[in-house]
Amino acid sequence: MERRIEVLTITDAQVSYDGSVALRGVDMTVPQGTLVAVIGPNGAGKTTLLRTISGLVPRTAGKITFDGVDLGRLSADKIVRHGVVHVPEGRMVLGRMSVHDNLLLGAHCRPRGTNLSPDIDAVLALFPPLKTRLTQLAGSLSGGEQQMVAIARGLMAKPRLLMLDEPSLGLAPLVIKRIFEVLDEIRRQGITVLLVEQNAEMALSHADQGYVLDLGRVAAHGSASDLLKDERVRNAYLGI
Ligand code: ATP
Repeated sequence: MERRIEVLTITDAQVSYDGSVALRGVDMTVPQGTLVAVIGPNGAGKTTLLRTISGLVPRTAGKITFDGVDLGRLSADKIVRHGVVHVPEGRMVLGRMSVHDNLLLGAHCRPRGTNLSPDIDAVLALFPPLKTRLTQLAGSLSGGEQQMVAIARGLMAKPRLLMLDEPSLGLAPLVIKRIFEVLDEIRRQGITVLLVEQNAEMALSHADQGYVLDLGRVAAHGSASDLLKDERVRNAYLGI
């Protein structure tokens, strides 16, 4: 069997907000070049997990390493420079800036003087609808186009691990299908993907592995195809 290098390793992560525990002893591994989906009900701790990896929320205990480096020792901007990039829930595009400027903003951590034109071309190849929108204000785009900008902006940082929080939220089925096709393509390009989704069945059907978070704990994990077949997971978390 092919040996995979483990890229992201989370060991016993614990997070509290003002004494209320949001993550309780979470262990997780995201192997290089895979797409790992994290699903679970509202308030399960999914967003907290991504924000903790990004260094935006402090851990009370546990360890997170990416490529052998302890992320707990790095500030949020250094974590991005280390290749861990977070596309947040709600897109957070800068509505009063053009699409092009939003994309350039994603590359702020790249070395000064880098020629970004090939990277812009590469993200536009993934999201052709943005080609004719480059000079338009990002805030004037549809929700689906804004999500494309958010993912494209994340890719401009040249991630080795791209984390996405609910990229399908509020989008039409056809746009969701396109977003998931792009995630497949991103993984094919060798970028590791950690995906948080309410759209659990869709996420698992595109993922290699899945984790179910519930009340801040890992309630189940395994290959995505096994989770999709698991009666308990289907009843409790997929609404099937
Ligand atoms: P959703 O799918 O609704 O976004 P989630 O699985 O992403 O939920 P989190 O947003 O991580 O869950 O929330 C986990 C728990 O932490 C919840 O009980 C939530 O109320 C709490 N929480 C999240 N952010 C904060 C915060 N900034 N301050 C206090 N409590 C918070």
